[in-house]
Amino acid sequence: MPPPSSHSKYYLISVLALGNFDKYGDPMSDFLLSKKNNLQCMFFPMTNVIQNYAWGSYSSFEQLFGIDNPAKEPQAEIWMGAHPSGCSTVITNGKKTKLSDLINKNKHLYLGKEIANKFGELPYLFKILAVEKALSIQVHPSKSQAEQGFELENKQGIHFTAGNRNYKDANHKPELVYALTDYQAMNGFRPINEIITYFSKLNITELACLLYELETNRTSQGLANFFSGLLTLEGNQKENALCSLLDKAEKSKDLIFELIIELAAQYPKDVGLFSPLILNTITLKPGQAMYLDAQTPHGYLKGTGLEIMANSDNVLRAGLTPKYIDVKELISCTLFDEKPIESLLLDPVESDHILDYPIPVDDFKFCIMRYSQQRTIDIAGAEILLALDGKMLLKHKSGESCEINRGQSVFIPAYTEQYTISCQGRVARAYS
Ligand SMILES: [Zn+2]
Repeated sequence: MPPPSSHSKYYLISVLALGNFDKYGDPMSDFLLSKKNNLQCMFFPMTNVIQNYAWGSYSSFEQLFGIDNPAKEPQAEIWMGAHPSGCSTVITNGKKTKLSDLINKNKHLYLGKEIANKFGELPYLFKILAVEKALSIQVHPSKSQAEQGFELENKQGIHFTAGNRNYKDANHKPELVYALTDYQAMNGFRPINEIITYFSKLNITELACLLYELETNRTSQGLANFFSGLLTLEGNQKENALCSLLDKAEKSKDLIFELIIELAAQYPKDVGLFSPLILNTITLKPGQAMYLDAQTPHGYLKGTGLEIMANSDNVLRAGLTPKYIDVKELISCTLFDEKPIESLLLDPVESDHILDYPIPVDDFKFCIMRYSQQRTIDIAGAEILLALDGKMLLKHKSGESCEINRGQSVFIPAYTEQYTISCQGRVARAYS
C-alpha cells in the first residue's frame, strides 16, 4: 500500500440529479424511502489509488493520461475497484466515500441482485499497469486449488502477511491484459522440442542431466521435472549455470538472449533468467489483448496496459523475484502443457465500433467502445468505464449527465439500468 499522499488527485466533474427509484418497489422500500429525500447519483467519477511498486514507470501515466508524479516515485498500477488493498473513492452527498462502503450500503442495488447473490462483492478489479521493470513470473491457482489452499493455510495458522503465505483468499484470478503501448510479456510453455533446442545450444554442464531427462521424456511430467529442477538449483551449480547462460547470451545475436541480458540487469542471479527459453515471449501491439489462464506461468516484462481480473490476490511465484518461491505448491498448481504461440492473442468480436473480448469466466466482461454518438447501454450489474483517448459524455434519462476526461474512470451502479454514452476515442468498459 502506498501512503495516502501518493493517491492521484483527479479532477472530478459530477452532476447530481434526483434519482427515480419507484420501479424497485417493496423489497427495497426502506432503503429507497431513506434515499428519496437525498440527492442521488447515477454516475460516480472515481478517484483511484496509484500503487508505487518498484517495477513501475516514472513517466508512463503522465505521458498517456497527464497524471503528474510530483513525488517522483515509480507509478506501477492504478487500481479501479473496491479491493481493500487499494479502494477507489467517490463523492456521495459532498463527502469522499470508499467505493466498498458505498456498495456495502446495499449490494443488491449497487451490484445488481444476481451479481450480489453470486459474488457478494464487486467481482473484478480493473487496473492500468505501467511496467518499467519485469514483474515476477507467476502462476494463479484454479478456483478449487485456491479454496483448498486457503483453507489449509488457515488451519496451519500461517499469518496473512507471512512471507510463506501463498493463498490470500479462496478465489481464482483469471486475468486479461489489453495493451496501450507495445507490451512485452511471457505466457505459457513453449513446445518441449523448442525448449530442448535452446538448452542443447546452450550446452550448460550443470544442466546436462536435467536436459537429458527431458529429451528422453518429452511429456508434461518431463517438463514438470525439468522446470522444478531448474527452480531448485542451488549454490555453485546455480551460479555456474547462470554464468554460462549470460556468457553465451552475450555472444548471441538472438533477440531472446538480448532479453535475458536485459532481465539480468534487473534480477541478477535469479533462476528466472532461464524463463524466456522455456516460456513463450510475446509483444502485444497497442489494442491487442491476451487472456491469462489459471495454472499457466506468465510474466509482464515491459509496457503499459489495462488489466482486469477477478477479485483475488493469489499468486504463486516462479522466478524474477526476491520473494518467496514455494516450488512444491507452484508445481502442484501448474499445468505443464505446451501453449502454441498462435493461441495467445484474444480475438475480439467486433460490431458497431465495439470490440468485445470473449472471456471464459463469468467474474467479469471487458470491451472497448470506440466512436459512440448517444449510444444506449443497458446494464445488469455494476460497471466501470475508463476514458482512454479523450472525453466521454454520459447521460441518464433522469437528466443526470457526467463528463469524464481522458485517463479518468467512473463507477456506474446497477440501478442506473441504462445510460447513453458519446465519445470520440476509445472507452474501456469493465462490467459483469
Ligand atoms: Zn498474473
